[in-house]
Amino acid sequence: MKFVDQARITIKAGNGGDGAVSFHREKYVAAGGPDGGDGGNGGNVVFIADDSLSSLINFRYKRKYVAPNGENGSAKRCTGKSAEDLIIKVPRGTLIREAETGRIMADISDDLPHILARGGKGGKGNQHFATSTRQIPRFSKPGFTGESFEIQMELKLIADVGLIGFPNVGKSTLISVVSAAKPEIANYHFTTLTPVLGVVKLDEERSFVMADIPGLIEGASEGVGLGHEFLRHVERCRLLVHVVDVSGSEGRDPIDDFEKINTELANFSESLSECPQIVAANKSDMATDEQIATFRDYIEKQGLPFFVISAATTKGTKELVNAAANVLAELPPVRVYEPQPAFQEDISSQGKRAFTVEILEDNVYYVDAPWAEDILRTADMDDYSSLQYFQRVLRSSGIIDKLEEMGIEEGDTVSICGFEFDYVR
Ligand code: GDP
Ligand code: MG
Repeated sequence: MKFVDQARITIKAGNGGDGAVSFHREKYVAAGGPDGGDGGNGGNVVFIADDSLSSLINFRYKRKYVAPNGENGSAKRCTGKSAEDLIIKVPRGTLIREAETGRIMADISDDLPHILARGGKGGKGNQHFATSTRQIPRFSKPGFTGESFEIQMELKLIADVGLIGFPNVGKSTLISVVSAAKPEIANYHFTTLTPVLGVVKLDEERSFVMADIPGLIEGASEGVGLGHEFLRHVERCRLLVHVVDVSGSEGRDPIDDFEKINTELANFSESLSECPQIVAANKSDMATDEQIATFRDYIEKQGLPFFVISAATTKGTKELVNAAANVLAELPPVRVYEPQPAFQEDISSQGKRAFTVEILEDNVYYVDAPWAEDILRTADMDDYSSLQYFQRVLRSSGIIDKLEEMGIEEGDTVSICGFEFDYVR
């Protein structure tokens, strides 16, 4: 099984239901008033962290997530039913970006629901459009379209401490003895294919989260290609515990191992290579005093805290986690990514009523206003009141002012969204 920590999916919020056009009807009552109800709201697409999930594998199989639409309004002032939200559960620490721009939309690392795509509001029924001068409104408003995005998800675990080191040095054994986590432990490589989180509890007040991460070298050295992929998981760790097999039991040199891992870290990201480290010289039960002394000397020259442990016998592990807790107490909290505002958000929000006017031939004014399409779609242009209503919209949006500014005269033609009408002052 390959661990999946990235996925690209499409999300679409529900559309609002359309408002209804309806008139009150009763036996022997000729013309009742308008009683068309409003459309219901479309469902949002909501993301929430679920700690029982540890990968994004589900999103490899299903890539389109659509929240239901709101129901249309109906007669007798019946409002259409608003749709339920679509809840998408993701592992804690999932970072969500808009695929197109790369902007961060949300970091699902808390317990709050995050609305990533908003459902469209329901349209108003004709019951709202009766006035003293327009008693028979033969139009309603359509529901608004729900937002949709293509998103790129990336799992960046939330852990205070990340374990790094070559395969088989004892990382999984260490997390299993200092926390309740039960990772696979075996004397062969590739045992850790999904990250394992463990809570290290020191006492009633103090605890931290430790992550046993599939190592970069585990794959890289074998050419399997796990490579740097996994390092993003330690990216927001506040502290790294660098586990080294000080006994060199696999015929490797601890100093060489230590340097190789650090080179990989630096290649991956500068900030990761600057993350504080504690060095755990593991398998001390199998090491000679001389081996330990040589490695201690080298590490201490670099000014790093050094601990001699044996994960298998738990010797020294208490001191190690205590030291980690003390360092953590001095460090800033786990990094949470702030959502970035949508690209050109300002323009598009005032752009709701944006338009352009061109004079394409004598006395024909061509108005381009995409937002007006929705209004026109349900407006009955043969209906006088409907047309009047539409003209009011044109006026409040500033289109009429613009036309007059351009010199429009009584009887000239206005063309908008495929509809044409005579300009009447
Ligand atoms: P990882 O690949 O870094 O997660 O390493 P594991 O925790 O899976 O351990 C690899 C092998 O080393 C297993 O057979 C462990 O039992 C063994 N091991 C781990 N820690 C120690 C230790 O402190 N002393 C000894 N002698 N063996 C250990
Ligand atoms: Mg392991």
